[in-house]
Amino acid sequence: KAKESKGNKVERFSDILNEKEKERFVIENLLKDALARDEFSLYYQPIINMKTGKMMGAESLLRWKTEKLGFIPPDKFIPIAERNGLIVPLGEWVLKTACRQNKQWQETGYMPIYLAVNISVRQLEQKDFINRIENILNETGLDPKYLELEITESISAENIHNIGNAFKKLNDLGVTLSIDDFGTGYSSLGQLKILPISKLKIDKIFVKDIHKEINHTAITAAIIAMAKRLNLEVVAEGIETEDQLRFLQENKCDMGQGYLFSKPIDASRFAIFLQKKQSFFRKHK
Ligand code: C2E
Ligand code: MG
Ligand code: MG
Ligand code: MG
Repeated sequence: KAKESKGNKVERFSDILNEKEKERFVIENLLKDALARDEFSLYYQPIINMKTGKMMGAESLLRWKTEKLGFIPPDKFIPIAERNGLIVPLGEWVLKTACRQNKQWQETGYMPIYLAVNISVRQLEQKDFINRIENILNETGLDPKYLELEITESISAENIHNIGNAFKKLNDLGVTLSIDDFGTGYSSLGQLKILPISKLKIDKIFVKDIHKEINHTAITAAIIAMAKRLNLEVVAEGIETEDQLRFLQENKCDMGQGYLFSKPIDASRFAIFLQKKQSFFRKHK
């Protein structure tokens, strides 16, 4: 009997592995011609000035709707696309779509905002990445000051030199560079400061536990203080409650985004925010 249950356990364990592998396989296959099938879209989430409540920009977030499985979240398909290289054409599509959309909003006469685009290190490593960015800016006619690139803090000692060169050229183009998910990786502010970055985004895991976990309270306050001393702007991600907002305001965090203000929404719903120009504080206070 003992033998039997042991056997069952082994079987179940391998079943789980197979399920995960199967899912990866299915996603990878669907991903291959998802661009050609036009299954991607961009959602936009407002980024708010923490003093005035005014929207300064928005983060563009990739959405993939498949016929078979419905929406598949980026956390599931981006790592696969990064591994098989598909992130390069996909990332190019994101950049083009975001820049074109922003230019179109500006031409409509809406208040100008910047759009932040998430960039994978795989894209940065492409030799022609700077040229691609230049081409997209030329083709769309978007002023580079309205484009921000977010790079997740996965910059290691080995690639910091190459990334540094790319960053300098991007900075010369007038594009803003920001470090995403700060606090979750291993890079130090001292190391990052040799890069021409102008912003840090504090990862939402710290914001989430500001009032629950005393270490996260201290870390959040310390990141803001250090960043400010280094002349970096600070954006907090994942603000969901009034208490979190108040804490971040008291600690002089420059900007914030989160469900408290708005979830990521599609372009047509987002245009209503641009039209209304309302303070995002009024309705929460
Ligand atoms: P990220 O760049 O850190 O983006 C922020 C994530 O937090 C988004 O998840 C957003 O929907 C979510 N979020 C925003 N406010 C709140 C909040 O108040 N509470 C909670 N719980 N979550 C909030 P999303 O859209 O699922 O994207 C996940 C990640 O996928 C992104 O994290 C980014 O690393 C990656 N990603 C998304 N779009 C792209 C893209 O176009 N290119 C690349 N390379 N990566 C992308
Ligand atoms: Mg981001
Ligand atoms: Mg990220
Ligand atoms: Mg982030």
